[in-house]
Amino acid sequence: MLDTLNRPLHDLRISVTDRCNFRCRYCMPRESFEKNHPFLPHAELLTFEEIVRLAKIFHTLGVRKIRLTGGEPLLRKDIEILVKMLASALPDVDLAMTTNGSLLAGKAQALKNAGLHRITISLDALDDEIFRAITDVDYSVEGVLNSIRAAEEAGLTPIKINTVVKRGVNEGQILPLARYFRGTGHILRFIEFMDVGSTNHWESVDVVPAREIIATIQREFPLEPLDPNYRGEVANRWRYVDGQGEIGLIASVTQPFCGDCTRIRLSAVGELFTCLFAGEGQDVRALLRGGGADAEITAFIHSLWNRREDRYSELRQEKKQSHPNKVEMSYIGG
Ligand code: SAM
Ligand code: SF4
Ligand code: SF4
Repeated sequence: MLDTLNRPLHDLRISVTDRCNFRCRYCMPRESFEKNHPFLPHAELLTFEEIVRLAKIFHTLGVRKIRLTGGEPLLRKDIEILVKMLASALPDVDLAMTTNGSLLAGKAQALKNAGLHRITISLDALDDEIFRAITDVDYSVEGVLNSIRAAEEAGLTPIKINTVVKRGVNEGQILPLARYFRGTGHILRFIEFMDVGSTNHWESVDVVPAREIIATIQREFPLEPLDPNYRGEVANRWRYVDGQGEIGLIASVTQPFCGDCTRIRLSAVGELFTCLFAGEGQDVRALLRGGGADAEITAFIHSLWNRREDRYSELRQEKKQSHPNKVEMSYIGG
């Protein structure tokens, strides 16, 4: 199954909740996501059975990687049961999760036992003050580091650490993070600050380009580029020349990778988004709850993918494109 730019469908990202216990300035700025923000009511969320049914259909269409995300996925009650259901229904699928690490320490082993393969943990700073300024909550770096240790002990490896870099906020944390994770086997991935959604006040001057991040690390630790592991890998891979591991750079702003984008995103209420920068999703839940047969749902997804022509990040570069009312990152999970 190919879209209009000959891209196959390979990865499915499932957002299981739009809620989060952090208020990262670049994702859910507190002034836009206050307590009275209209978060999705529980009855609206896809049930685990509905998610698994859709995942099986996606599998028949070529999906071999599934990532659970949010909001904060560990806020979804009994998430390990969903993991278990997905892992037993689709044993050949690479099953991963992205989390902020605040609730992981006590759950890592249960997630591993349920069949989760890998985990990505977000951490933007080692300095508590900078971490708190970014996440805008009273939580400590040590809490996230504990979670990373718990994930390691549970065997959810290799662990990826996601660091969003924002100019004037945490570029001074690039080297401390590199020093800390070198030699641990964990893969630190620096992400350029993106213009997702419409609440994070993104400006291009706030983006620290990937080449600058590499240059910063190179000053202390020589690096050399590595080949991608597979088509569609979003991170550019680099290895420490002295053999102390690898890092990744997700340069979605300065080096867009739309040509290889093989992802589809499912929101917590069952809308499909074929691009992170889309305005509206396509409602598949109505088909599910309206008694649609698997064949009908398959045809719906097939036709959606066949029509897909998204390449927002490439056009942003060419045309300085920006459009209002983009879906929020916390709604579809990055
Ligand atoms: N709450 C979980 C977490 O933070 O890991 C999962 C959802 S979060 C939306 C997924 C990833 O998107 C995180 O690694 C986060 O840092 C990243 N992210 C959020 N907003 C971003 C932005 N504006 N630009 C780049 N990355 C962003
Ligand atoms: Fe929450 Fe993750 Fe967004 Fe931070 S990046 S506010 S942890 S959803
Ligand atoms: Fe994929 Fe859209 Fe990002 Fe391009 S901008 S890589 S099409 S999600």
